[in-house]
Amino acid sequence: MNVSKTFENLTPSYLFAEVAARVAAYKAQHSESKVISLGIGDVTLPLIPPVVEALKSAAEEMGTREGFRGYGPEQGYSFLRGAVANYYAGKGVSLKEEEIFISDGAKSDLGNLLDIFPRGITALIPDPVYPAYVDANIMSGNKLAYAKALPENGFLPMPDAAVKADVIYICSPNNPTGAAYDMRGLKAWVDYALNTGALIVYDAAYERFISDKTLPTTIFSVPDAKYCAVEVCSLSKMAGFTGLRCGWTVVPEQLQSGVVNAAWLRRQCVKFNGVPYIVQRAAQAVFTPEGLLAADKNLAYYKENACIIANALKEKGVRYFGGENSPYIWMECGMPSWEYFDKLLNTAQVVGTPGAGFGAGGEGFFRLTAFNSRENTLEAAERIKKM
Ligand code: PLP
Repeated sequence: MNVSKTFENLTPSYLFAEVAARVAAYKAQHSESKVISLGIGDVTLPLIPPVVEALKSAAEEMGTREGFRGYGPEQGYSFLRGAVANYYAGKGVSLKEEEIFISDGAKSDLGNLLDIFPRGITALIPDPVYPAYVDANIMSGNKLAYAKALPENGFLPMPDAAVKADVIYICSPNNPTGAAYDMRGLKAWVDYALNTGALIVYDAAYERFISDKTLPTTIFSVPDAKYCAVEVCSLSKMAGFTGLRCGWTVVPEQLQSGVVNAAWLRRQCVKFNGVPYIVQRAAQAVFTPEGLLAADKNLAYYKENACIIANALKEKGVRYFGGENSPYIWMECGMPSWEYFDKLLNTAQVVGTPGAGFGAGGEGFFRLTAFNSRENTLEAAERIKKM
């Protein structure tokens, strides 16, 4: 039995392996120097106390005859779906529990959603962006079209009436550029999708990093978005769940009069057995007032790191994007991004991620992240300033 031919169309995933190899080679030659990574795409602060408490008490509960739980509902426990619905109510968006599907994180659903659509469709994907959208669509045998994110459009591409697509991916705030759409930009995409019959897959994994109160944190802030969009979100970056694994996907009932919601429910019931009870209890704890307060404290720490990096670049007169509503800073590096990687490593012993790793449109740019410790971020910023 052969592996699907579509896998032959994937480009080798060498980005982080190549970064690690170059860093290891440098360290082997310079064992005395301290290398600081501003390339980390994962959170580093420990879990917040309300989450730890909820994990402990749910584990205790599972250890009793009365509290033991086996298989849970595939779409998530009502207590968590209700908490997510309440979170959206706080954004002025009304959702039914049936429209919310608890997931083991955003990455799975971003690819799994393709299960309910025909193969060979056209996906419109921003370039540069989080690479999983492109690879999931290639695996499904889909055709790709790109929405070019450029400095000229503030890395926020707008719809082009000449481009036809079945599925449109939008990532806001964007990884890696840090750019976030305003209401006007999102409305343009919603109008385009409604006019063309396309479905928007909206990745809101970084919505909680948005500081600018005028920016939407969900696509459902746009009237009628429920007729053309699903939203995929995650507790990974919002509350440090990258290791615990929990997120959610909103599939509105208005989408094709409930057909998409029913198909997704069916898909989940066949291929997914739900998120662990104790993890869902931990996620529920995030949505309490104390949980959100503690999670936001961690986000404030990362955002301050982003500010430190941004200020160093400003001082050096380097053009950059992001950093304000996102943990990512997207800097213009003025040379091929791998060349800049080597230069930064060799002259400042600082590691980042070459923009080319996020798509052809990322060439000439470089991603720095806010997830290292304050101490290391300050030191890296000083080294960049001295470069
Ligand atoms: N979406 C974007 C834009 C991301 O950058 C990431 C992870 O880095 C994910 C989704 C995956 O998140 P999760 O941990 O929820 O699978």
